[in-house]
Amino acid sequence: MDVCVVGAGPAGMMAAISAAENGNRVTLIEQNEKPGKKLFLTGKGRCNITNACPVEELFDNVVTNSKFLYGAFYRFDNAATVEFFNSLGLPTKIERGGRVFPQSDHSSDVIKVLIKRLESSHVSMRFNTKAVKIVIEHGPDGKDKISGVFVKENNKESLIHTEKLILATGGKSYPLTGSDGSMFDILASIGVKANKCEPSLVPLSCQSMEITAMQGLSLKNVNLSAFVDNSLKYSGFGEMLFTHFGISGPLVLSASSYLKEDDYRRGIKAVIDLKPALTIEDLDARILRDFDKNKNKNFENSLGKLLPSKMITAVIKKTGIDPLKKVNSITKQEREILCRTLKNYEITVNGNRGFNEAIITRGGIDVKNINPSTMESKKIKGLFFAGEMIDVDAQTGGFNLQIAWSTGFVSGRSCKEE
Ligand SMILES: Cc1cc2nc3c(=O)[nH]c(=O)nc-3n(C[C@H](O)[C@H](O)[C@H](O)COP(=O)(O)OP(=O)(O)OC[C@H]3O[C@@H](n4cnc5c(N)ncnc54)[C@H](O)[C@@H]3O)c2cc1C
Repeated sequence: MDVCVVGAGPAGMMAAISAAENGNRVTLIEQNEKPGKKLFLTGKGRCNITNACPVEELFDNVVTNSKFLYGAFYRFDNAATVEFFNSLGLPTKIERGGRVFPQSDHSSDVIKVLIKRLESSHVSMRFNTKAVKIVIEHGPDGKDKISGVFVKENNKESLIHTEKLILATGGKSYPLTGSDGSMFDILASIGVKANKCEPSLVPLSCQSMEITAMQGLSLKNVNLSAFVDNSLKYSGFGEMLFTHFGISGPLVLSASSYLKEDDYRRGIKAVIDLKPALTIEDLDARILRDFDKNKNKNFENSLGKLLPSKMITAVIKKTGIDPLKKVNSITKQEREILCRTLKNYEITVNGNRGFNEAIITRGGIDVKNINPSTMESKKIKGLFFAGEMIDVDAQTGGFNLQIAWSTGFVSGRSCKEE
């Protein structure tokens, strides 16, 4: 039967291949001039295809609606993803944290093998073609069903008749890659509502001179916690970065997954433990040893071994201790303040960098309206969803692409004659 897939990102390409393997005649529609524009950017151009963790751990890394993905992940898991790409002639390798990359380190190679597979599966690909309207009709059972999709190509609209329509149009992040969220409006016009879309895995902004002065500084092996009204929203260990606008890096992106729009309005306090391996007592002993070696130095010149140079001024300012005070006259109480500052370096977060810089979108089509075993809409027969447009999102590490492969595979496989 005829299947139309809209969106040639990872989810759409996988859905088209899967539907074609199922014996369907498949048309893949993409508004860009080529497929996989966002996929090309993934993993800093190297494409972190998936994660080699045990399958159960996939769910631990999904932040929103992990249970919905149960069927999809078990039907097409991370091992199946690796096997799929290897079978297409793309060797892969596993790096730190189980991240799987193409051996060539080129995301373009991932796109190349997908295109080759689409061609060999006789998928008809139409680029520079945008889906602009979905046509539904009432079936004899009184249920709405898909009857076609209007597409615009060279300013001309035409109707593609199809009973099976797979939408894989992505979220709203990095809109220049094509994921502009316009499909959510089209869906709303036929009564399919999406949950509010928000940027996630996104750098955070902080309006403070102290942060700007530290730009370029990267902190490794620190603990970052995020609080809203004194309630803990996130805590994690790893690496972060100070930038001209605020904070970024893996830890910060992870933290953003747990921060909602309302949290930004209420105010977010980020707290860095600069010495997570040391207790306050251990840290005090360490500082005492450093002070002992620098007895006659000014306080500001005694912290070189303890802190990166770009942080010294900011930390001293927070302690309120005179930077010119001689180390041998620093009191026990002042040392205590220094220890507490190093274990709880506070930053006020004012917002995030928005969809333009967000790796993914949180929100999208409500999973309550999708059958998790088939990805078919519960309201409209023949309408399927795949990838980031569904209200699921995950941490970095290859998990978001795994969502695209798994949901794409299941939606394609579910398109068959009844
Ligand atoms: C910089 C960056 C790096 C990333 N790195 C990784 C990584 O290494 N590993 C990982 O797991 N995840 C990564 N991600 C996330 C991952 O890229 C996305 O989760 C994934 O691309 C989502 O796939 P998708 O197919 O659902 O949507 P998309 O990739 O967004 O594709 C949607 C496609 O639909 C098309 N489209 C939209 N509307 C229409 C329409 N009306 N008509 C026709 N076509 C339409 C768009 O042009 C687009 O090509 C990264 C994201 C970014 C931005």
